[in-house]
Amino acid sequence: MSEPEKDFKAYVVALILSRKTEVAVQILSKKYRVDVPNLAVGHVKGKKKAAGVYVTAKKLILVSNGENLWDPFIILHEFYHHIRNEGGEQLGNEKLADAFARDYINVFKEQISRKTFFSS
Ligand SMILES: [Zn+2]
Repeated sequence: MSEPEKDFKAYVVALILSRKTEVAVQILSKKYRVDVPNLAVGHVKGKKKAAGVYVTAKKLILVSNGENLWDPFIILHEFYHHIRNEGGEQLGNEKLADAFARDYINVFKEQISRKTFFSS
């Protein structure tokens, strides 16, 4: 993975942790050339236990409570489903969505241990 790629992934995670999830999904959408998904807090019928869901028809990442909007794992997992949906594919399995999210988070952890990411 190239340095710019690593920086991008770390930056996305940092944005979500900084409660700038809207900005994070904008730059992710640009990178993957997909429409920007909608974000909302609420429950989907029949899926009350899920921390997050992706609603295909609305291009919506729906999280069960406000705190989950700042959880990189949940947001990136659901964003993976969005990419698949935008590509006209099936939503992909849960393992692949988890792996997508974990990759971003692992790169973030690696980058913050290597550089002073937030210094001015
Ligand atoms: Zn999923």
